[in-house]
Amino acid sequence: MNCTKCKTKAAIKLPRHNAAFCNGCFNGFVHDQVAKAIKSQKMFGKEDRILVAVSGGKDSLALWDILLKLGYKADALYVNLGIVDYSESSYRKVVFFAETVAGSHGAALHIHTVEQEKGAGISELAMLVHRPTCSTCGTIKRYQFNRAAIEHGYNVMATGHNLDDEAARLLGNVLHWQDEYLHKQGPSLPASVEGFAKKVKPLYRLTERELAAYCVLNKIDYIVDECPMAKGARTLLYKEVLNRLETESPGTKQVFYWGFLDKQSKPEASPKTMAERDQSALHPCSACGQPTTAEVCSYCKMTARAKTAVPR
Ligand code: SF4
Ligand SMILES: [Zn+2]
Ligand SMILES: [Zn+2]
Repeated sequence: MNCTKCKTKAAIKLPRHNAAFCNGCFNGFVHDQVAKAIKSQKMFGKEDRILVAVSGGKDSLALWDILLKLGYKADALYVNLGIVDYSESSYRKVVFFAETVAGSHGAALHIHTVEQEKGAGISELAMLVHRPTCSTCGTIKRYQFNRAAIEHGYNVMATGHNLDDEAARLLGNVLHWQDEYLHKQGPSLPASVEGFAKKVKPLYRLTERELAAYCVLNKIDYIVDECPMAKGARTLLYKEVLNRLETESPGTKQVFYWGFLDKQSKPEASPKTMAERDQSALHPCSACGQPTTAEVCSYCKMTARAKTAVPR
């Protein structure tokens, strides 16, 4: 099997593109896909200051690497959740990448540790406020990213969601006809409130397998294990189902998700109207100033509850 581009020996086959690439051309393919995503969804330009959410996994580290190599100004934030073994290991991977690769591009790494602030890791905190771990985690991450973006002047927040993540999320939203989530799902979302960062997903054109291959090829050392709290999550099942469909019929995931984006971009879908409606419902939290639809935001409510809660 030869490389579709340069005709030397191919190292990776991409059935969904009916193509195969050698190492050099595969790197070029990955960079092109990200550049295309940034351009077609009007995500950001060379003057924007980007904050990448890094977890130590393949997607977020690959994203940071690609943005820096494409010449963007991209720093990163790592939220240490205090999950035994997993957090220590992912922390080490992030710091190693920051020191060896990102540092040579002049990029900075910000770190927020959940334990330091609340005296407990994410699992203990979730128990204390009687909420599922992942929803507690989501609230904390959203809050910390908004906070870091405002404090350090970033106008774009980038996450490493890939095609598999977005297709699985779309499948979940469609199966339950969650209209509100469907309207909000997209790779480039405007800032919820003036002055806050916009949210983008520049890897939505690449699959998990392609990103893992990119990391191996570029010697990016990432944490292979999933967060232990993800066990039993619905999205893992949706991914499995989509993988089966993809094996039978290569290109299914991209037809599904890109087709959705295509429909969404038509004027009659009016995603802007939804965003505008959201914006008008939001106002600053009376305790911390972050955007919320209630008087006090969910982060402030949660931390207040954690302070007064008695461990069971
Ligand atoms: S699986 Fe849950 S706890 Fe783990 S990082 Fe994801 S949202 Fe957070
Ligand atoms: Zn080639
Ligand atoms: Zn608040």
